[in-house]
Formats: sequence, C-alpha cells, structure tokens
Amino acid sequence: MDAIEAISILLVDDREEGLVALEAVLDSPSYNLVKASSGQEALKHLLEQDFALILMDVQMPEMDGFQTAEIIKKRPKSKDIPIIFITAINKDEQYVLSGYKSGAVDYLFKPFDPSVLKSKVAVFVELYKQNKELKRQAEVIRESERVNRERALAQLEIENLRRYQSLADAIPHAVWRSKADGTLDYFNKVWCTYTGLTFEQSLGNGWQYALHPYCLKKVLEHWNKAMQDGLDFEVICQIRRAKDQNYRWNIFRAVAERRNSGQIAAWIGTFTDIHDQKLAEETLNQNRIALQQAVEARDEFLSIASHELKTPLTSLKLQLQLLHRKARSNSQEALSNPAVAQKLEAIDKQVLRLTALIESLLDVARIQNQKLQFDFELVDLSALVSDVSARFLDEIKSTGSILRVEVPDSATGVWDKLRLEQVLSNLLSNAVKYGGNGPIDVKLTVDEHNATLIVADRGIGISEENKSRIFQRFERLRSATNVGGLGLGLYIVHQIVEGHNGIIQVESELDRGSTFIITLPRRLDRLSERAPAHPQPETSSGPSARSALVAS
Ligand code: ADP
Repeated sequence: MDAIEAISILLVDDREEGLVALEAVLDSPSYNLVKASSGQEALKHLLEQDFALILMDVQMPEMDGFQTAEIIKKRPKSKDIPIIFITAINKDEQYVLSGYKSGAVDYLFKPFDPSVLKSKVAVFVELYKQNKELKRQAEVIRESERVNRERALAQLEIENLRRYQSLADAIPHAVWRSKADGTLDYFNKVWCTYTGLTFEQSLGNGWQYALHPYCLKKVLEHWNKAMQDGLDFEVICQIRRAKDQNYRWNIFRAVAERRNSGQIAAWIGTFTDIHDQKLAEETLNQNRIALQQAVEARDEFLSIASHELKTPLTSLKLQLQLLHRKARSNSQEALSNPAVAQKLEAIDKQVLRLTALIESLLDVARIQNQKLQFDFELVDLSALVSDVSARFLDEIKSTGSILRVEVPDSATGVWDKLRLEQVLSNLLSNAVKYGGNGPIDVKLTVDEHNATLIVADRGIGISEENKSRIFQRFERLRSATNVGGLGLGLYIVHQIVEGHNGIIQVESELDRGSTFIITLPRRLDRLSERAPAHPQPETSSGPSARSALVAS
C-alpha cells in the first residue's frame, strides 16, 4: 500500500506563539506543516514546494499579510493556493474587503475556535486533494490517448509495410530496401528466387555474392557515392541467375525515399533483367554492321567487276571491227562469205549489249559514289527521240509489234545528250521487254519551260504498290523474272532525270500497260544553278565549249 502523502500547509506568522498555536491545532500525520516567520520566508517556501493552503497572519513587520498575498497571487506557481488570513485586530468591513481583494479566501479572527479552524482547513485540504486527483486523472487519460495513438500509428505502419512488401513481391523485378545508412534490410521473393540467396543470406553484404566480381567494384562505387550525395543512381551490372548459374545483365537502380523534411528515410531499389534485350541489341548492331559491310562490298564489287569486264570487251570490239572491215573489203575469200558477216554482226550486237550492261553497272557505282556526271549542251530532243526510236525499229518489228513516234519539229534544251539517249533506250527496251508485243507509243511535246517525253506500252503493267519500288536499285518485280535484266535501268533513268531537275512518273494498271512520263526543264538558269552539284568532266568536246553553252 502506498504511504499516505502528507499535505503541506504553510503557516505564516511573525510571532512564534502564533505559529505554535496553529501547529497545536492542526497537528496531524495528514498534514505537513511548514512554518514561516515573515512574508519573505513564506515566498521562499512557496518557490520550493507546493502547498494545499496558506494560513497567514495579517499583521507582520516589513511585509504584511496583504502585501505577501499580492505577490503570491502574481506568481503562476502559487496563484491558485487558497489563503486564510488570521487577524486579531481589524474586523471592520473595509479591512476585511481589502483582505479578500489581495487574494484571501477566508478570515479567521483571534482568538479562533480550534474546531472551526480544523474544519476549514480540512475543507481546503479536501478541495486540494480532489483537484490533484482530477489533474492526475486528466494526465492518465492524456497518456492513454497518446499510447493509443502511437499504437494505431505503429499498426498503420506495419500494415503499410505489409502492403508494400506484397506489392514488391507481386512485381516481376527484384526489389530491395536499405536503411538511410545503406544497410540493406529487405529483399523481395523475386530477388531470392533469381539469385538463389535466402532473405537472411542477402542481408548485410550477403547480396554482393550474387554480383559478378567484375561489376561489384563499379556498383559499390555508385552505391557509396549515392550515400554521400543522396542522389538516385542507375548502373548496369551482371547478376548470377540461380536457375542456370549464368551471369545476366541487369539494371541496378536506387531511389532515395525522403521524409517531409527532405532527409533520406530509406533507399528503395530494383534489379531488372535486361539480358535478352541487351543481347538482341548487340545482335542487331552486329547485323547492321554486317549489312553495312555487305553493301559496301557489293558496291566495291560492282565498281571492280565493271572495270575488269570492260577492258577485254574493248579489245574484243576492236577485233570484231577489224574483221568487219576485212569482210567488207573482200580481202579474203572466207571472210567475204555473207554468213560470216552475219555472225559477226550478231557478235557485235552481243558486245553492244554487254557494253550497255557494264555501263549500267558502272553508272550505279558512280551514283553510289556521287560521281554521276553530266555533260550539258544544247540538244534537240526531237532529233534525239527520232534517232533512238529508229534504232529500236527492227527489234520491235521482229516481235510483230509497232512503234509510233510523235515529235515536234524541234525541242531544244540544255541537257546531257548521251544520258537522255540512255533514258529513252532504257524505257524503250523495257517497253519491248514488258510490252507484250502490243504497240508502243513515243510522244514528245514541248512548251516554253519544259519538254515532256512519254513512252507507253500495252503490256503487263505495274501494280500500284510496286510503282515506287521499280525506281530502286536491283528492284525487279516478280512478273519480270523470265525476262533478262538487272533491275538497274529505271534506277539509272531516275537518277539521270533528277540530275536534269526533271520528274519521272509512271501511270499503269496491271495487264493494261505502262506509261512513263518524263518532264525535263529546258531553262538554262536552272542548269547553271545545278552546275556546282554536278561538276562536269573534261571531255573531248572541251570545257570551254560546254561552259559557253551553260552561260549563254
Ligand atoms: P530490268 O529491266 O533490268 O529488270 P529496270 O530497272 O529497267 O530493270 O526495271 C525494273 C523492274 O520494273 C523490271 O524488272 C520490271 O519488273 C518493272 N518494269 C519496268 N518497266 C516496265 C514496263 N514498261 N512494264 C511493266 N513492268 C516494268
């Protein structure tokens, strides 16, 4: 059982007999009677301890009871302590009133009745006790509310953590958490399954065993720096996968979790397996490089092969020309035989075709190296179209088809004559190849600015989706596989037309034939603008003659 705490009562009187009288009346183990023989001494006691009641004599030298009471009531610590004044002299109303004003709750006049004093003191002591008990209960309530609040918060935190961990377990990445100082204290299930390390094994520095030794240094450097700077980071590293014991590429990411104050509360991190993407990316890069190399090798081949093939052909052509000359001069009996001459002509044709083929290859190589050059001069396109068309007449006739050519008297412009011959030859040769023996029409028109050349056939035609493809390198449509060709003609034609600032279009429908329309600007000023982009070679016609034309 708790010892009953004695209640302190302050007795103030300058006269010893007064104090003794009070003490005699109030003597009880329930009271702790503290005596003061002056106002000052009373104030000193009040600073040191708590009292339930003050019994104070009014008449005291230096500081009387009223003055002392006023100071007591001003002090927060003592302002609520009830004061009973004890006086022997003044009982008049005015005097009593000033006592109440200075803070008295009651008066006792000497000689006092001990039982009255006792019961009054008992009332105040009881009040004091009740007050104290109320305060204690209020404190108990406050404390239990605080404990409940803290318990609820802790519960909430546990629930949050549980929810956070189930979330972390649900995602397909390895998730970890560390304290603000970098000590790892949580790993999700994915991490444990992936690395084969248990939760306990991963704690502390255990997680580092899953990392490739070669990556570990780099990862720790990042990690230590993040601890210092408080900055999030991301680093790629290799982690051993328990399933196959292979080290796989992962992104190791760490993000600081901050309190409202900005202070780091923890670090949350993830390991994401990017191994397959990384390998795919590497393969893609390798393929890209291989493709690039293949393209370069092919272009190089084209250039070399063309040159290599052209040389023997030149000499072959020369020999054939000699034979022709001899055959025509009848210098030898055998060579005058018409059958021999016919054969030689056929050989010559083949040589021409081979030469054209090789020229195409050379042109492609030149286009690739941006070295396709133009030799601009004043050209009459009407004459050129008539000439080139005439060269195809026999061939077209032999297929049972017809060629209709419609040209104005003259259509002059500043163009590259040989290149435009090449354009028309290609279009006509295609019209023969893919024209299905139907009639072929060539039409040239001219206005102030442009010349327009149209080559139309009634053959197999080109589907809508293939129209743009046919102008690309090595592009041949499936319908053309039984006909000879490299898929270069239209590519070169397109490049030549563009080199003239012209436009090439194709109108076609499957099985209804194809119409190629080329529009070439005639104007000299436009050509002079193009001159720097297509430097002109020094040819036998002489640079001065050509520049005179460009400038005129
Ligand atoms: P090649 O004649 O050597 O195949 P081209 O570059 O001249 O090469 O033509 C590319 C492809 O366009 C041809 O293979 C053919 O499929 C298609 N093509 C060209 N001209 C015609 C045409 N007049 N009619 C139908 N298809 C054509």
